[in-house]
Amino acid sequence: MRAAVLVAPQELQVTDHVPPKPGPGEVLIRVTLAGVCGTDHSLYNGRFDLPLPVIPGHEGIGVIEELGPGVCSVTVGQRVVIQPNFPCHTCETCRKGYGNVCPSKVRLGLDTDGVFAELVKAPAEYVWPIPGGMEDRVAVLAEPVAVAAHAVGLLPPKEGDRVLIIGAGVIGLFTLQLINIEGVVTTASDLVDQRLALAETLGADHTYKVGEDKELESSSFDLIYETSGDPAAFAQAIRLAAPGGRVALLGLSGEEFPVPTAQIVRKELKIAGSMIYTDEFGQVMNLLKKGKIETGPFTGDIIAINEIDKALKTFNDPDRVKTLVSIG
Ligand SMILES: [Zn+2]
Ligand SMILES: [Zn+2]
Repeated sequence: MRAAVLVAPQELQVTDHVPPKPGPGEVLIRVTLAGVCGTDHSLYNGRFDLPLPVIPGHEGIGVIEELGPGVCSVTVGQRVVIQPNFPCHTCETCRKGYGNVCPSKVRLGLDTDGVFAELVKAPAEYVWPIPGGMEDRVAVLAEPVAVAAHAVGLLPPKEGDRVLIIGAGVIGLFTLQLINIEGVVTTASDLVDQRLALAETLGADHTYKVGEDKELESSSFDLIYETSGDPAAFAQAIRLAAPGGRVALLGLSGEEFPVPTAQIVRKELKIAGSMIYTDEFGQVMNLLKKGKIETGPFTGDIIAINEIDKALKTFNDPDRVKTLVSIG
C-alpha cells in the first residue's frame, strides 16, 4: 500500500509500505479521505518524543475492507469514520469514565500507524458508521468537531453568557458554532484576519485581532474557551474572565508558564482542561447529518498523499483553514 511515513522529524516519505493486518476485535479500513491536524504538524516538527518511523494522521474515514477475528458490529463495505484514540479500558482512569486521559491510551497516527495510508487498522468499537447521504468531506470532520463538543459539554454556555473564544482556528470555529445559540453573545479573537472574517461569517457577534484588542481588554466574559495553547492567551483568559467566570482550556502549550493564582481565587474562576473527547462521536455524527455544523469553509482544500509534506511545511499559512487528503 502507499503510505506517507515519517522517518525523522520533517522527513515524510511517500513509499510502498506493508499493509496492516487486523487482529482480534479490529477492522482493516481502506482510507478515502483524511484530515491534516495540528497534532500532525507537531509530530512532523519533532515535538512528540515518540519512536519513528510512524505513519501520521488520525482524522480519517474509509470503507471497511476486512474484519479481524470476533468482529460482528460492522460489515465489510461499510463506510466509517475512526475515533482515533483507543483507551486501555482496564486502568482506574478508564474505569472512572475518563478514557480520554487514559495514560496507556493508543493514539492513532502517533503511537500506532495512522490514516495517511491506503489502509489502516482500528478497533471495531472505535469506528462509527457514516450515514448514507453524508459526504466524505463532511464525515472526515467528525474528530475535530468532537474535540470542540467535549469542551462545550464540560462547560456549556448558559443563557445570557458573554462568551470569548480565543483562537479562531478549526477547533475555535467549531466551538463557536456549537455555542452559537439564542441568548449567548459570542466574541472571537485571533492573530489572523482571514480567520476572524470566517468567525464573523460563522456567527461571531464580535471579533478582535490580537494586538489590536484594546476594546477587548476592557471587556469581561462569563465563559472563555482558550483554543490556542499560547501562554499569553491563558493569561488573557484569566484576566478577562468575569468574577464567577468559567475557563475551558483546549489548547496544549509545549511550555510551562506561571499561573496567576491570586486572580483565579479572587474571582473564584472555574478552570477546566479539556482533552480530546469521550463519548461525543455519536452526537457529532448526528449534528453533521442534520446540517447543524457549517462545514463548507473546512472542506475546500483537498490534496493528494504526496502533497502532505508541503501542507505540513506551510501549515501556519494564514490563508489555510483545513487541509484534507484524498487517498485511494
Ligand atoms: Zn485532529
Ligand atoms: Zn486506561
